[in-house]
Amino acid sequence: MITRRLFCGCLAAALPFASTAVHAQSSECAVFTPERQKATAPDEAIARLRAGNERFMTGKPVNCDLIAQVKQTASNQSPFAAIVGCIDSRVPPELVFDQRIGDVFCARVAGNCVNTDIIGSLEYSTRVAGARAIVVLGHNFCGAIKSAVDDVKLGNITALLKNFRPALATLKPSDGHRDSHNVALVQKVAEANARLTAASLPKRSRIIRALVDAGEVKIAAAMHDITTGQVTWL
Ligand SMILES: [Zn+2]
Repeated sequence: MITRRLFCGCLAAALPFASTAVHAQSSECAVFTPERQKATAPDEAIARLRAGNERFMTGKPVNCDLIAQVKQTASNQSPFAAIVGCIDSRVPPELVFDQRIGDVFCARVAGNCVNTDIIGSLEYSTRVAGARAIVVLGHNFCGAIKSAVDDVKLGNITALLKNFRPALATLKPSDGHRDSHNVALVQKVAEANARLTAASLPKRSRIIRALVDAGEVKIAAAMHDITTGQVTWL
């Protein structure tokens, strides 16, 4: 009886280890080197994020040894993509795209808008650190977008909400009453914001424009559905 109990205990302990070991050997767990980053085409970088969201959606994230990745990236990082996302607690880019240590740069701000600091960060991510894609990731039911729709005035939020004026300007009378309870209208503004923010990057940054024109970097806009976990590309 004791022997059997011990055996069962050992087996139970060994299984998770075996599972982790298998994933640790997965190519998904290999940290990005400068060579691997350079060999990743911009379209491939987007494809990696698509595949990662598919794993997230289907409950099959890759299980890697994160401390091993910490050690492997301690002296150098070569992330393959940069993501501009919202601060919303339900939209963490690394989880939504099933990425790990050293894989992606992330800039997060309410409503995934950009300013000089974030554009500078994206210039660093791409021109200096070699990332091959920039993704502006919006999401539905975004509090920042709702606040912009309602024209909220509160502290520094008032200034933040000015970033969404171009997206609000896409609204037409046929979109209905401008009110955050108008779900379709809020979604339209959120999508317009992600799309317009992505489109603004080459216009606001000569560095990013040059990289895009040379085919070195691809810019994409996407929306995350907080009710399903799915990312839809715009
Ligand atoms: Zn948000």
